[in-house]
Amino acid sequence: MIKLDGSLVSQYLRTHIKTQASQFRESHGRAAKLAVFLVGEDKASHVYVNAKAKACEEVGMASEIIHMPANVDSKKLEKELLRCAKDKTVDGILVQMPLPSHLNTEKIVSLIPANKDVDGFTPEQVGCLSLGRASVKPCTPAGIMEILKYYKIDVQGLDAVVVGRSHIVGLPMAQLLIQANATVTVCHSKTRHIDASLRNADLVVVAAGKPQFLNKNHFKKGAVVIDVGIHRLNKDGKSILVGDVNPAGLETHVRAYTPVPGGVGPMTITMLLKNTLTLAEAVEKL
Ligand code: NAP
Repeated sequence: MIKLDGSLVSQYLRTHIKTQASQFRESHGRAAKLAVFLVGEDKASHVYVNAKAKACEEVGMASEIIHMPANVDSKKLEKELLRCAKDKTVDGILVQMPLPSHLNTEKIVSLIPANKDVDGFTPEQVGCLSLGRASVKPCTPAGIMEILKYYKIDVQGLDAVVVGRSHIVGLPMAQLLIQANATVTVCHSKTRHIDASLRNADLVVVAAGKPQFLNKNHFKKGAVVIDVGIHRLNKDGKSILVGDVNPAGLETHVRAYTPVPGGVGPMTITMLLKNTLTLAEAVEKL
């Protein structure tokens, strides 16, 4: 059994990204730059955004956090987004989710120009992804593909199940697996026979957002299990992180799995850095 160590893969990729970021600075006289929009005071969002800014700094890239109050007027946010869209020193724009309910998420995301859409969430980038032509791929699924590549897990011909069909994880994950020649079944909350699908799967990606709702008995012996879920729970007065999969007994049952924490999580920010650099290089080639 292999524990798929996302921190290790992340470290390996960041060494390359750091070199590329340095070459970019030398060639173009500026650092590749990420702008992050943070609306409100959600604690977890603040932690994620600060981690993104710190990661940029560590690899020699620039970042700007545009923090606005929870009750910000939509027009004000839109104006700032348009400023970043025009700013030639900004290569990637990201809006930290979730946004407060009075803001129209779809409309806000649509203001990000496709060539600065570092998350790959705009309709243009989603279209390119489905055609297999995306310049940047959504960070979490792209990070999972990198983990599989690092550990030489060839998905070609595998029967894969993706649990979840969100625009940021499940759907792009299914597309990337299809493009890598896996045969993919997508399950969601209305799927009637999820257990039967899981029993036949060589590879399972679980992104349902339900703490530990699958366990070893759901998986075929020798399957590869990727756990995207991340939940903070209180156990015996202690705060712990768990995934969508209960890891008890997995080690002796499956071929490989991603632990939580330390599996998929560390890859997401690394892919964000990679995407920012890809967009910066594309702009400089124009
Ligand atoms: P989401 O938008 O809430 O989507 C959850 C998906 O799971 C939906 O498609 C839903 O089906 C499906 N689902 C819910 N209950 C189910 C059930 N009982 N059986 C089968 N499918 C079920 O969540 P998300 O944004 O994709 O994120 C999923 C999880 O990954 C969350 O725990 C999130 O925190 C985590 N995450 C981690 C990272 C990371 O970097 N590690 C990044 C992103 C997300 P319907 O479509 O029918 O509602």
